[in-house]
Amino acid sequence: MEVKKVGIIGAGQMGTGIAQVCALAGIDVALNDIAEDRISAGLATISGNLAREIAKAKLTEAERAAAMMRITPANTFSQLQDCQLVIEAASENEEVKRKIFIKLCPSLAPDALIASNTSSISITRLASVTDRPENFIGIHFMNPVPRMQLVELIRGIATKDSTYEDAKQFITRLGKTSTMSEDFPAFIVNRILLPMINEAIYTLYEGVGSVDAIDTAMRLGANHPMGPLQLADFIGLDTCLSVMQVLHEGLADSKYRPCPLLVKYVEAGWLGRKTQRGFYDYRSGTPVPTR
Ligand code: NAD
Repeated sequence: MEVKKVGIIGAGQMGTGIAQVCALAGIDVALNDIAEDRISAGLATISGNLAREIAKAKLTEAERAAAMMRITPANTFSQLQDCQLVIEAASENEEVKRKIFIKLCPSLAPDALIASNTSSISITRLASVTDRPENFIGIHFMNPVPRMQLVELIRGIATKDSTYEDAKQFITRLGKTSTMSEDFPAFIVNRILLPMINEAIYTLYEGVGSVDAIDTAMRLGANHPMGPLQLADFIGLDTCLSVMQVLHEGLADSKYRPCPLLVKYVEAGWLGRKTQRGFYDYRSGTPVPTR
């Protein structure tokens, strides 16, 4: 099945990135969120991102205009009825996602595919609340979507072969590479990455090093392009905590215990770049370590 129009639920960091790459690949997009102003903010983010690409001479004004024309706001799920694929990229909360899928299904064409961009929640469990578990798959984009080459495809227990093949083809059309992961907590990338970030937060919590020392150590000592705390701020500390909780509960191993300092930052509403404060304070324009 060729995807001509894709519905995206959640116009946050990931939803806007997915919308942007789809529109640039010539695919129509219907962008949904809980409130109209969030959709407008998402559209403004995409427009700003594309403007930066023009400034770098990677895109022309005409290409930007054409891409923006392909994205339409969708305030209700009924506006997703002509989509061949709907990608859910709402907040990483299982209850929120379950409610979305239950409400979404009656609005869709019977053969439409549904995907979740979840970082960690069981695809099989999310699929089970839909009327089409065989047409349900995990399509896990990496952040920032326009820049990252990899997309993980996660097959739930009921996902049929053609759903996987259609998703794989869709990712190829976006110019990206997919890997296949079985449906276990946090899949491949986050199963490995998030415990490393959590360990960096423990290193800070136990006073082994400062924010700056930890990030510099991993950048220059392990050749990582950015430090783990900088990366945590980039991902969003609420998302990081949520992935650790899924690993802790799903694998029942104490080695995945979320660091209490991570919990504290989330409780404070210091969620990283998106709230201007996390392990760094971004409010002055130059990131300043908060510990
Ligand atoms: P975000 O907080 O930036 O955006 C989430 C958006 O979902 C918000 O705009 C919110 O208003 C919207 N939303 C919440 N409930 C909704 C509902 N009922 N209906 C419609 N929209 C709703 O979060 P994000 O970082 O974009 O993450 C979104 C998803 O992508 C999560 O599942 C996350 O795990 C996953 N993900 C995140 C990253 C990352 O690095 N941030 C990477 C890969 C995958």
